[in-house]
Amino acid sequence: MNLLPLLLERIAQDGPMSVADYMATCLMHPQYGYYSTRDPLGADGDFITAPEISQMFGELVGLSLAQSWLDQGRLSPFCLAELGPGRGTLMADILRATRSVPGFAEAAEILLVEVSPALRAVQADVLKGYAPRWMDSVETLPDLPLFLVANEFFDVLPIRQFLRSGDGWRERLIGNRDGSLTFGLGAQAPQPALDHRIEDTTEGDLVEISTMSPAIIGHVARRIATRGGTALLVDYGDWRSLGDTFQALRGHEKVDPLTDPGNADLTAHVDFELLAQAARAAGAAHSRLAPQGVFLERLGITARAQKLASGLEGAALDKVIRAHRRLTHPGEMGQLFKVLGLFPASASPPPGLEP
Ligand code: SAH
Repeated sequence: MNLLPLLLERIAQDGPMSVADYMATCLMHPQYGYYSTRDPLGADGDFITAPEISQMFGELVGLSLAQSWLDQGRLSPFCLAELGPGRGTLMADILRATRSVPGFAEAAEILLVEVSPALRAVQADVLKGYAPRWMDSVETLPDLPLFLVANEFFDVLPIRQFLRSGDGWRERLIGNRDGSLTFGLGAQAPQPALDHRIEDTTEGDLVEISTMSPAIIGHVARRIATRGGTALLVDYGDWRSLGDTFQALRGHEKVDPLTDPGNADLTAHVDFELLAQAARAAGAAHSRLAPQGVFLERLGITARAQKLASGLEGAALDKVIRAHRRLTHPGEMGQLFKVLGLFPASASPPPGLEP
């Protein structure tokens, strides 16, 4: 089963659809959406993420959040939240690593923002004993200090794509050609949200804009600015997006994003400038963007890997060495993935990041 008939019907009714509408339907359609119906993570799935590679990732992220919590005066109670928690591995590692921080667990109300029923079930199992709460969106975050993490969450949020044309833009749209989905271009029109991209683009350049991220960051950053807290946002992308980064992954391979809709993971690189602007507009400060490898090295991942490796040999030792390399090496995830921190203007950035 895939979503092709439903998408073709919608195109017949309303005309060609934006990449954002296509992404939202393929990933989150309540019945047939990619995330709604399965657990796609891990070696047997379609892709693997940092927390699934090694416990070191979640441990260091947890300790960075906990140190921020100490630095900001042990705010209590507070909300410990994760956006798009996948299998719950990252949150489980955060909670285990922060057990040694007195008062942290007792003050934390654990909140998971997750729309997928299939993944909520996995999270409930992995986190049983911690009594987390689930929410569909950040709009109803409790009115508490907020310590939040999001790993590979913003890259699955829908994007629109625009091709520079004269002083305006033509949107890349998805239509029907002989019963198959195909890319086309809409009419030229001004796009006020892209005014700041006129200066750094030329005819034919493609830029992407996330439709949901600014509002989500707005909610998170407002809470951090008014109540205190920190957000660690980890994703692949860069300060400013340029070019087509819309891609589909299936069985760890890149596939055509328009083939077999609903059965592949669809992502786009995150434009961190957009997140930073939304955070500033909501009154929060943000860190410099740091490559994941640099962030983890600053937090002591090498010492942690050595500790985990001591006493191991053979395949178990290789696994720790490979995980360390995979998370930090510039040729692997170390450079492509970036970390942005949000914090109150009166506080310092979380450990691992610079103002
Ligand atoms: N953070 C996890 C999983 C990343 S996959 C990890 O690092 O392993 C993306 C996650 O975001 C999945 O849990 C998916 O179900 C969730 N998700 C995607 N779109 C969402 C949305 N609009 N609201 C809430 N959760 C969403």
